[in-house]
Amino acid sequence: MTKNGVKKLQLLKDKILAEGNAINEDILKVDGFINHQVDPELMEEIAKEFAEHFKDKGITKVVTIESSGIAPAVFTARELGVPMVIFKKQPSKVLNDDLYQTVVTSFTKGTSYELTLSKKFIDASDHVLIIDDFLANGEAATGAIRLLRMAHATVAGIGILIEKSFQPGRAKLVESGIEVYSLARINKLGTDFISFIDDEPT
Ligand code: 5GP
Repeated sequence: MTKNGVKKLQLLKDKILAEGNAINEDILKVDGFINHQVDPELMEEIAKEFAEHFKDKGITKVVTIESSGIAPAVFTARELGVPMVIFKKQPSKVLNDDLYQTVVTSFTKGTSYELTLSKKFIDASDHVLIIDDFLANGEAATGAIRLLRMAHATVAGIGILIEKSFQPGRAKLVESGIEVYSLARINKLGTDFISFIDDEPT
């Protein structure tokens, strides 16, 4: 963690506490600063923290899953001085030899989509950092990892803004040997409260 990591982490937590809106015990809405309206200053702080944390991993590309990971991913890529690649969601399989494709089940929508990556943007020489807004069941992240494996790229780690630690995503990813760095870890959610696992990002 950077010297100011605690402060930066606090900035995200303060935003979550002030503006986050739990619609039930599972889903947190953060439309005011991440998912709909975006807070660029917060994104910059988040990006600096991710860039500092992953600086020794030889990262060549930052990837995210469209669309809510795009803002933090592009800021992080800028900070690391590498390109950012968006894994695209398509409703159904299109036969295309130029694409890697895998099916992912959406946690929030309860639907499935085809995650796609053009073969020309990632290859075996790449060390890739995955950035996403939320980690819940880990379906989006494991889908992204499957695409990266198809491309024979190295997964350098995963940076998450908000981890819902009461859901199984982190355990699944860590079990498969992937480093997960989450800036805010929520251990309990309710319509009138949000509690964090600890004050240190892990
Ligand atoms: P997972 O695949 O880990 O189950 O879910 C991760 C994806 O679902 C994230 O990319 C995010 O877009 C969405 N997601 C999961 N939980 C939440 C939530 O509580 N709030 C919002 N806004 N999105 C979520």
